[in-house]
Amino acid sequence: MTTIALHALGCRLNEAELEQTARILEKNGHVIVRLEDHPELILLNTCSVTTEAMRKSRQIARKLCLHAPKCLVVMGCALDLMPEGENFFEFDPSDPAFVPPKLLLIRGFDKPRAGDIIAQYIRDHADLFSEARNIQNYISHTRAFIKIEDGCNNRCSYCSVRLARGHERSESTKDILRDIHTYTSRGVLEIILTGVQLGAWKEDQRRLPDLLTDILHQTTVPRIRLSSIEPWHIRENLWSLWCNEPRLCPHFHIPVQSGSDAVLTAMRRRTPIPAYLELIRNLRQHIADVRISTDLIVGFPGETEANWAETLAFIDEAKFDDVHLFRFSARPGTDAYNMPNQVPPDVKKMRWNEAEEHIKRHAAERLKSFVGKSYPVLWESNHAKSCAAQTMTGGYSPNYLRFERTFPAPASMRGTITMETFAMTDIESP
Ligand code: SF4
Repeated sequence: MTTIALHALGCRLNEAELEQTARILEKNGHVIVRLEDHPELILLNTCSVTTEAMRKSRQIARKLCLHAPKCLVVMGCALDLMPEGENFFEFDPSDPAFVPPKLLLIRGFDKPRAGDIIAQYIRDHADLFSEARNIQNYISHTRAFIKIEDGCNNRCSYCSVRLARGHERSESTKDILRDIHTYTSRGVLEIILTGVQLGAWKEDQRRLPDLLTDILHQTTVPRIRLSSIEPWHIRENLWSLWCNEPRLCPHFHIPVQSGSDAVLTAMRRRTPIPAYLELIRNLRQHIADVRISTDLIVGFPGETEANWAETLAFIDEAKFDDVHLFRFSARPGTDAYNMPNQVPPDVKKMRWNEAEEHIKRHAAERLKSFVGKSYPVLWESNHAKSCAAQTMTGGYSPNYLRFERTFPAPASMRGTITMETFAMTDIESP
């Protein structure tokens, strides 16, 4: 038995891949622990979505080595987009704090087999790993990510994810249901379905609404959530499932990327702004207390002042609950890398600040509209602010409102659901 810690950067798909790998490692008799528990092996799933994510992936890899694992396993988009022969870690060999672990790199299409590859590596290096005992802190999950799809057939001109992940492919209904049964038998109360193109899931003639119907009918998991889903995949036969089904969590993360149709065309996005706005109007009209978030890129090449004004007007009209803002960074291998009229960094910064001001204002207004309403909250994590007498615990409502409450210690509320009323203090707490 080897102790293994997992660390994911970037999207929820990366977390789902780690969950999947963890299940195989556990089946092989290994134990998943936290980083603080001095694991013998650390598995890092990296991200390349921006230049900054790439830099962070390298930096975290170096930091993880300071936990002194015997082996560091690296996989994911940052590794896959790294030119052959380049040093991923850029270690400083003269750094006395650094004791290099053994490295295992798992590239591209080997990723689905990561669990088996690592288990085999441990068998082949039995002398390296000891028999670990007395592990106190197994990870116990209240939510689990389940990867139902990988890859993307679209060609968004800025995107490096599709280069790293390849073409669309779906997991079978049978495997997805089996995974959900496994998690629910371990007490997991919420599953999050993930994929690069979650909405592109298919099995013969069956599509995502059919899969969701099967999950609702054939499992008992109390909460089912979607991770990011593209607007062109949310048709009425999908969103209408949410109208009368409390087990489906009313929170949608729908990437838009720009509020200007001219920029969306240059990005090769498939949903124009009027259709996007109509979609979110429908969701808000038909699904009680739904919350909607999005991704937005600031400073795409050729984005003019007029385009930017359209984006600000769009933000004001859409009134998102949350927006993940990205400053455009050109990724090698993408069409946008060589586009003319790159937006200067100071202009990007100014637009970013402007967007953030609009976004924060609308998000605050939206949050206030939920004050006084009661929701079942799934408690997940004990907060660092806990003390001997009280445990501060954090959790989420189905529509992804964040709650924090104190409970008498040492009782743990982790993995339970209680009804709570959303209050102004929930908005004000960090
Ligand atoms: S839809 Fe576009 S942004 Fe999303 S993974 Fe595919 S190519 Fe990339």
